[in-house]
Amino acid sequence: MVFAAPQLKDALASLKPGFVVYPSPQGVLINQEIIESLAQQEHVIFICGHYEGIDERFTEKYVDLEVSIGDCVLTGGEIPAMLMVDAMSRLVPGVVGKGKAVVEDSFYRGMLDNPNYTRPAEWEGLEVPEVLLSGNEKEISRWRRREAVKRTLTRRPDLISRASVREYLSEKINAALLLEDDSADISGLTEMFSAYRLGRLQVIARDKELRENFKRRFPGAKILGSFKKLLETGSNVLAVKISCGAVKNSLHMLEIKRRCLEHDGEIIFVFAQNDSGLEELGGITGYLYDSEVNIPLNLKIGIALDRLLGVRS
Ligand code: SAM
Repeated sequence: MVFAAPQLKDALASLKPGFVVYPSPQGVLINQEIIESLAQQEHVIFICGHYEGIDERFTEKYVDLEVSIGDCVLTGGEIPAMLMVDAMSRLVPGVVGKGKAVVEDSFYRGMLDNPNYTRPAEWEGLEVPEVLLSGNEKEISRWRRREAVKRTLTRRPDLISRASVREYLSEKINAALLLEDDSADISGLTEMFSAYRLGRLQVIARDKELRENFKRRFPGAKILGSFKKLLETGSNVLAVKISCGAVKNSLHMLEIKRRCLEHDGEIIFVFAQNDSGLEELGGITGYLYDSEVNIPLNLKIGIALDRLLGVRS
């Protein structure tokens, strides 16, 4: 038995127009992004199938999105529809008491949640982690972030590629530029660094005269003569060099994102006007694409920051 198209059309016509979702095992697999985009709609209509489903011609003409809740078959679309309504409603302000709780839940930023505990502090020989009893809010949030990272990396590493990880990385993410002359295009850099919450900028130039020039060109930045000085600036620093084309020993940007998440300390992204200048510095190198083409410095920086720290799409 299949639901017939004319009757479904009549049913649809009796409703206020809206975005039509057909819960179906053949639809796109549900995830938080789908829920977030459905929650943005003014009005959502669910067409719940039964038996063999609904006439394909109705789907073609009137269904905006087919969504599956997983690789299993249910008897009808009502439970999938309820599931979606429940997930969407949590995003409506006021539905979940503490708005912040939604943001910290699994998948909201594409990561898993940290483990949760409540009273008593000791139960059947198992204790609540000490930091949670300390009352130190800063340390508690740091612990939560690190635990969420550990869980995601071990249980669901597949989530990392589309996760928005800025909140889970150290507050201290800084940038360094390796410049050979003053011709590099640096327009928009200040805005870009502030959009992605990068802190201090350091500029490395071997030439003394150039360094004098850069003091004026990069007000507020630290101007250094060598890489060595750059890494002396703090302990537990991960230098992440970004090159354009794939060079020897360079890593895919997804692996760079994973390593940044693993690192519990300062991170410095190093960008060079000419990629060959990056070789002598320790740390890790990520590549943006498989080609020898060198793109303008500000574009290189924009692409890298978006890949590593951007909001998932
Ligand atoms: N003949 C269909 C197939 O094999 O793809 C299965 C039809 S199923 C028995 C009946 C209805 O349950 C579907 O039309 C759909 O609305 C709903 N349904 C079943 N499994 C689903 C799933 N995994 N996700 C979303 N909806 C599902």
